[in-house]
Amino acid sequence: MDFQQIREETARRIFELYPPDNQGRGFICPLCGNGTGDSGDGVTFIKDSYRVHCFKCGFSGDIISLKARENNCSYKDAARVLAVILNIGNDYDKKYVDKKLLTAGKFNLRADSQNATLPQIFSPHIIEEPKIDYEQFILDAEKNLKLTDYHLKRGLSWETAHKFCLGFVENWRHPKIQNAPESSRLIIPINNYGYLARDVRQNLSEKQKKYSKQKVGSSNLFNVDALSSEIVFIVEGEFDAMSFYEIGFNAVALGSISNYKKLIDIFFGRNNFPAIIILALDNDKGGRSTTRTLKQIFDNLGFYNFIARDIYGAFKDANDALVDNREKFSDAVQKNFDTARENFLRYFR
Ligand SMILES: [Zn+2]
Repeated sequence: MDFQQIREETARRIFELYPPDNQGRGFICPLCGNGTGDSGDGVTFIKDSYRVHCFKCGFSGDIISLKARENNCSYKDAARVLAVILNIGNDYDKKYVDKKLLTAGKFNLRADSQNATLPQIFSPHIIEEPKIDYEQFILDAEKNLKLTDYHLKRGLSWETAHKFCLGFVENWRHPKIQNAPESSRLIIPINNYGYLARDVRQNLSEKQKKYSKQKVGSSNLFNVDALSSEIVFIVEGEFDAMSFYEIGFNAVALGSISNYKKLIDIFFGRNNFPAIIILALDNDKGGRSTTRTLKQIFDNLGFYNFIARDIYGAFKDANDALVDNREKFSDAVQKNFDTARENFLRYFR
């Protein structure tokens, strides 16, 4: 490991890790938060060195040791984490960090301690079953989209439907469940290896409701391309992400809240990131707890993030809110977008 290279790269790209302080002298202290208030002067680099100093909590040390203090880990592990975040680490670093980064959003690792048996937070390298390619199925289904208007009932225009390559299958049956009954399904492609099939029939029985949303292939994030936009919303369901697109915003759907780890893995694998992440998960227990976890992780990684407020009104998610009242939903999203941007820009004033 080349510590000097990591120091140089960290110093050069410091604002990818920590937001600038309010006075524009340095960056916000990850240990004490110095730099967020009007008079806070943040952490500054000591001239001609890679050493930093915080005037509030008094931390003084080289930039890698700040990371070590922040994450409560060894110097060497902190260097690895930095190398991975800055995308200058090797495969071994990445694997090592994946394995060691821990506990409900806190990088609480001490690889040099005997007590390093904390639960994992990032996806271990799971051996997945061989993938089946559904590309042709998806293309065929797309040709039949005109046979349904289900998406219109969910507030999604034809334009949105085409953008996400939605399709329709009149007599769909789960490919892996023998003797499954047939039903008419809207097909929502996740990628070439998986899709969501949504029952479009009206007045479903309780039993049919249970199978009304079925996933085929591996569960994955939906609309990951939206991470290239400057401001991105993180939502739960595919219909929620499409609902944001419908009113002119970008959103990535987790697909399932347990996929939040995949989202973090994707962040580790990228070198361009949205400037602002707005967490807008479902208005329920699972949504709220995943929001807290993601906030903690993004805070630790130094990504500017913001929890959406009053965005879905009394509804559980974006699609329900859109169906209820498009204008109201659109206004609430716009308001959150503007507030997040305002707060973010304050860092630069
Ligand atoms: Zn401090």
